[in-house]
Amino acid sequence: MVLLGPPGAGKGTQAVMLAERLNYLHLSTGDILRENVKQGTEIGKKAKSYMDKGELVPDDIVIEMMLDEIKTDAKDRDFILDGFPRTIYQAGKIDAALEKLKLDIDLVIYFKTSLKIVLFRLTGRRLCRECGENYHIVNMPPKKEGVCDKCKSELYRRKDDVEETIKKRLEVFEGQTKELIDYYKGKGVLKEISGDLDAEEVYEKLSVII
Ligand code: ADP
Ligand code: ADP
Ligand code: ZN
Repeated sequence: MVLLGPPGAGKGTQAVMLAERLNYLHLSTGDILRENVKQGTEIGKKAKSYMDKGELVPDDIVIEMMLDEIKTDAKDRDFILDGFPRTIYQAGKIDAALEKLKLDIDLVIYFKTSLKIVLFRLTGRRLCRECGENYHIVNMPPKKEGVCDKCKSELYRRKDDVEETIKKRLEVFEGQTKELIDYYKGKGVLKEISGDLDAEEVYEKLSVII
């Protein structure tokens, strides 16, 4: 399954719910890239400047990285690609590679989400430094401000969740990613849901589709 939608649509939140409740393997390109940056790997070094600016990391880096993940972990399990593919080029490459592995993408969910909502969500998003748990200061606040409910570590704001970079990321979505909607429509696998709803309501709709 592929989760498609603008930054802040709630893709990551739904992917975590699906992984916890239905045992999907969750592969988030953004999370994997951020982990590489944190560990200082070659991929991380190459990716960091693009991520900080809100631009896409070059296709070839991301494609190879995601294919490695799929080959290692997704052979015998249903998996969710969260934030990948994000360009038509990535989509073509992943289709061809999956075919060789006798796997395919049979469901693509497009989270149609209004601009006002994604702006509010991204500026209020906070993440746990240790376990990666996702919060929102208003919509999904932690019990204690600035502290993770699960592991008590510190919460932080992503460097790219600031107004200027959010604007850039939304432009990138409009310019480079949105055309994937038609690409997957053409393949007959696209389903659209409203990303504006509450997380449980979105999950409800997602479950019905699945
Ligand atoms: P994406 O992965 O699409 O960028 P996230 O899942 O990280 O989006 O969600 C962005 C922010 O909005 C997070 O702070 C999250 O806690 C919050 N959030 C996610 N889904 C919803 C929802 N349905 N309603 C309200 N807030 C949400
Ligand atoms: P969001 O869902 O909030 O946009 P992500 O965590 O998915 O954020 O992505 C963060 C950054 O990681 C992007 O702005 C981009 O630099 C990089 N990135 C994530 N996925 C891809 C991808 N498929 N192709 C290229 N770059 C990517
Ligand atoms: Zn934590």
